[in-house]
Parts: sequence; structure tokens; C-alpha cells
Amino acid sequence: MSRAISLQDVTKVYGRGVTAVDRLSMDIAPGEFVVLLGPSGCGKSTVLRLIAGLEEPTSGTVLLDGENANDWGPGERRLAMVFQHYALYPTMTGRQNIGFPLRIETPDEDPGPRVENAARKLGVQDLLDRLPSQLSGGEQQRIAMGRAIVRRPSTFLMDEPLSNLDAKLRNRLRAEIATLTRELGVTTLYVTHDQSEAMSLGDRVAVMRDGVVQQTGTAREVYQLPNHVFVAAFVGTPRINLLRARVLAPLGGRMSLDFGGQKLLLPEPLLPDHQMLRIQMGRDITVGLRSEAVRVASPQEAGPGEGALQGVVDHVEFQGHESLVHVNVGARGAAVAGLEAARRPTRRRVGRPGPLSRLLGSRAPAGGTGGPHTPGAVSTEPDGGESTEAAGRMAGNLVVRAGADVWARPGQRVPLLVDMARLYVFDERGDRVCPAPSHAPVLGPY
Ligand code: ADP
Repeated sequence: MSRAISLQDVTKVYGRGVTAVDRLSMDIAPGEFVVLLGPSGCGKSTVLRLIAGLEEPTSGTVLLDGENANDWGPGERRLAMVFQHYALYPTMTGRQNIGFPLRIETPDEDPGPRVENAARKLGVQDLLDRLPSQLSGGEQQRIAMGRAIVRRPSTFLMDEPLSNLDAKLRNRLRAEIATLTRELGVTTLYVTHDQSEAMSLGDRVAVMRDGVVQQTGTAREVYQLPNHVFVAAFVGTPRINLLRARVLAPLGGRMSLDFGGQKLLLPEPLLPDHQMLRIQMGRDITVGLRSEAVRVASPQEAGPGEGALQGVVDHVEFQGHESLVHVNVGARGAAVAGLEAARRPTRRRVGRPGPLSRLLGSRAPAGGTGGPHTPGAVSTEPDGGESTEAAGRMAGNLVVRAGADVWARPGQRVPLLVDMARLYVFDERGDRVCPAPSHAPVLGPY
């Protein structure tokens, strides 16, 4: 495969022993758009800076178009960088800002036609005579991108270019960036901590964690077949439900996942994708259920059986086209190491003793933690929503997607049905056990 950018076993250790990038290998094909996604501090910008030649690798090799570029200066690399901070020259007009790199690279050429051309592509032809202070944030970022594309680079390196903009503008500009880079046929490496941006932009998404790439794949692959609980939790909104459970396999009985308060019966015979659960017998695992993998069952469907759970509605988020029903199923939530920096809680709720114990019997945990702690991967989330995200998600609550006119109301006891084909299980290290790691085809359409 021809490679525009290749990182081979690249490590970057900063002073005082901070390993920002840890033996990272990655190939990017010519014209490909790859997004580096990960929480703040995981090493994304360092990767960009290593490729741009702004940092030297401590070990390993950076190859550009197949050639070892370790000794090349930034100017020798035909790359253009676009940053979060537009860094436009305040005393120069848009035209002068865009044309600036050309005045340095080709001082004898009239930059006019190339500047006009770049401005047309970005829709800023009418703004060229304004100073940056006379432009909005989005317009300034367009001028900054014009300055990058005017040089006709072979590669774009973009470091959170949209994070200073408001949500509406961000959505519009990201669509424009995707179109523009495709039209230009330029290789792009785009850094973001925003998973929805990553999912909508890239040909491939590389999810980074602690200086390593945890998984690379299409947006669909990382969403549907996350190889690690970190990826499962980082990608997708609302965040995947992660519950602690133990695999039970009674002699002569049905295998189940025991959440403490209640059990989830597995299909019999086991689905091919669940076979690996036999190895986890008696062990604590983390169950991952995306909100679309569980539904509020109709009262007629209620009852014990495969895939059935029950819970008490905590609250219902009306979203217009659908509702997100937060259901307390009396389970322990799982906290994923390294995740919360990027997914800050926006609202804190205090855990309140619900009617769950009464409804589900005495085994429903009333509070506290419990369960083993596994350093580096998963631990039991403290009850009470310490690490909640938007909408006041409570530890151990299931967020379930439902229709806009869902009948469930807070305080109500509801039957739930789990789509067992979409059940994820992660082991104590956080590696995916189900669906089976050998699972080749991506699941059917959601
Ligand atoms: P990200 O872009 O994912 O937020 P960075 O690549 O900026 O992450 O940083 C990765 C790690 O390296 C962080 O722990 C950060 O504090 C550290 N780091 C980044 N730049 C330097 C530097 N110049 N000197 C020392 N440590 C640094």
C-alpha cells in the first residue's frame, strides 16, 4: 500500500519522563482523511507535531511519502497545519493573511490568482479586504484554512480547528472541511476530542488512549465493534451503558449475567458470539449495552425470560424525535479509566435510595461500591453519579432509547428487553469478549 504518512514505532518522551506517545505505529494512505480521537492529554497533538517536524521522536521513524523524514525540518515537509487558534496576523487583511505563505515561498509570483482561488473554495471572496477583527470566528477560521490550502500542500494536519466555534457553525464547517479535502484530494490528519466530530468526518478514526492507538477503523467499526471498553465508552451518544456483572453458569441451568439485583438470562443454546463467556464463568465482567440495544417492553411482553430485565424509571429525557428513558436496574455502573477527562459531568446528582429494592427484592444494592477494582481498565462506578455526563446519568442506570411518546413515567416499574445480539461484554482488562473477538462482519444496520 502506498503511504502518505507512516509512523513506525514512534515514541515521544518529554522532559521529566512524560511519555506522550508510546511506540505508536500508523499508516495513512494518500488522500485519506484520518481522525485522531481521544481525551485531552492522550498525545494527539504530539503526534501531529511529530509529523509536522515541530518535535523530534525520541525513538522510531516518521516516513513521509515513503521516505524517512526524521531529519527533515518543518519547511521541507509540504504540510500545512490548521490550529484551534487561528493565529491570523491582526494587521493584515484576509487577502494578505491567505497570501502570506506565498510571499515567502514564491516572492516573485503574483499571489493574487491563487489567493482568489482559495478564497472562492472557502466562500470568503467578499471578506478578503477585512482585518481579522472585522471577521467572526468562523470567518477567521476560513481565512486560516485558506492560508493552509493556498500552498497546495500534500497533507493537512488539523488540530481541533473547530473547537473555538459555536455548535451550529462547527457542524457547518466540518461538513465544508470534509468536502474541501475530498475535492483537493489532500491527505488529512485531523485531531479532536469530540467523538461526534470524529464519527462524521473521517474515512477512518484512530482512537487514542494514553499515548497509544487503541483502535483504528471506520466510524461504524469503532462504534459497533469496539475492541476495548474505553473505545466503547468514548464513542457514541448517549454513552454506552456499562454495568458490572458476574457470569453465572449453574450446573444443568441457564447461563446468565448477574447484576446483583437481578439476572439477565442468556439464550440457550448460547449464540456463537457469546461462546467466549464460558471462559469468564464466575468472573466479574463489564456488560455494555448501547441505548438502542435495550427497549422498554410493552406490558404484554413483560415476564421472565431471555433478555428480560426490569427497572424503575428515574427520569425521561424528551428529545423531540425520541425519548431517553433513564432506568434504575439496581446494577453497579462501571467507570472506565482515562475517560472522564474528556467527558466532564455537566450536572451532578446525589444518589437517592429509590423504590428499587422494594420492587426488585432485597438483593438490589442500596448504595456503596463493591466489586473488584482493576487498575487501568474498569472499576465500579460509585453510586450517586459521581462521574455522570450530560443529563444527569446515574451510576448503574440504563439509558434506553424510546419513542417520543413513550408511556413510561418517573417512578414507574418497567419491563425491559435486551437485544442479545447487541450485548457487549468486556473482561477485567477491558478487552471485548463478546461479540467474539474473531467477529469479522460488522453488525447489521442499526
Ligand atoms: P492532547 O493533544 O491529546 O491533548 P498532547 O499531545 O498535547 O495531548 O500531550 C500529551 C502529554 O504530553 C500530556 O501529558 C502533556 O502534558 C504532555 N506534553 C505535551 N507537550 C509537552 C511539552 N512540551 N513538555 C512536556 N510535556 C508535554
